Amino acid sequence: MKNSVSINNRSYNWPKKTTIIICLDGSEPGKDGYIEKAIEMGFMPCMKSIISQGTYEIGKCAMPSFTNVNNLSIVTGTTPDVHGICANFFYNPEDKKETLMNDDSFLRVPTIFEAFEKAGANVAVITAKDKLKKLLGKNLKKSICFSAEKADLANLQDSRIENVLELVGKPVPEVYSADLSEFIFAAAVKILEKGEKIDLMYLSTTDYIQHKCAPGSDIANSFYKMIDSYIEKLLSLGCKIAFTADHGMKAKSKPDGTPNVIYLQDLLNNNYPEDKCNVICTITDPYVIHHGALGSFVTIYLDNKDKINEIKNYIQAIEGIDVALTKEEAVNKLNQPADRIGDLVVTCKASFALGKGEKDHDLSQLKEPLRSHGGLDETSIPIFISEKLDDSYKKKEKLNNYDIFDLALNYDR
Ligand SMILES: [Zn+2]
Repeated sequence: MKNSVSINNRSYNWPKKTTIIICLDGSEPGKDGYIEKAIEMGFMPCMKSIISQGTYEIGKCAMPSFTNVNNLSIVTGTTPDVHGICANFFYNPEDKKETLMNDDSFLRVPTIFEAFEKAGANVAVITAKDKLKKLLGKNLKKSICFSAEKADLANLQDSRIENVLELVGKPVPEVYSADLSEFIFAAAVKILEKGEKIDLMYLSTTDYIQHKCAPGSDIANSFYKMIDSYIEKLLSLGCKIAFTADHGMKAKSKPDGTPNVIYLQDLLNNNYPEDKCNVICTITDPYVIHHGALGSFVTIYLDNKDKINEIKNYIQAIEGIDVALTKEEAVNKLNQPADRIGDLVVTCKASFALGKGEKDHDLSQLKEPLRSHGGLDETSIPIFISEKLDDSYKKKEKLNNYDIFDLALNYDR
């Protein structure tokens, strides 16, 4: 056992007890946040005591405020300019194709898990969706690593665990369900109950509920109540628990319930028909029921680079746009990897969503008023730790979700 592990220019103390880092997908924080509302309404007694006896802060996530981008920020302790994962979907200049960014070859630095595994730690990683498993599990050879979505396929060779359904006592959950997230917590409890010695555990849920339901709603409250009961079980097993979110979540519909979308490709085609602007909605992933590929962040490739400033100024003036940035500005201000974003990066304000063309989005699957994320208005995230930290953490200029391993491991009293 070592005293500490260094990776990606940061150093982490060896966990003194099983330390569980939880990424609660899409858990918008604040006075009207999911957890705060559920506590206020009496659904999270355990979290309530964490706030009074432990640590509670609101921090920021990396941009764009998307799931994979931030899961990889959290588990590497770095930003997208360093780890390379800046989208779910992007234009790959290497093969000139628009493609999903879920292959682990896109990840440019080792994860904190890989470093701890090499140092001899017992690590377990459980994700909701399989899209993240490959990225989070990159180069892991001894650690438990599986997704709830494909829990039935977990085997010793790939996942260092087998018979997960029997262990958990639940069937494979539906991908669009609260059960997908519950399965992760149930599996974590069973793994620890059967006496598995784990030093570091990472649980990453899905934001299906948060895309559908506002904080304080019955469905959101029962989801957070379920989480609270598992947190209580995990604490009773002697674990330290730290949690954060990958991003926030905002309502983006008009009063009539239809999505409040700026179809940027259509606007650019009408105003700059000669200039072949290509808008890429980088939130696009295989799980369109969540959001119809509508988020608050897009990147744009321009054929005619002479017009960058003119087009940027045009976009900036559209109602609902938050910021339009050149590639250089996005690299400097938002820590983006220059080779994986377009000539322009555009974000919209909280109550708007950004689309490509109207014909490019199949909204027939979107059953509830749109709630989504991706922009600067969805970068607030909660930070909870089940123990009081040494006050020196307050000297940090800013708290980010990708500081959660640092906070959980390096600030014991
Ligand atoms: Zn997410």
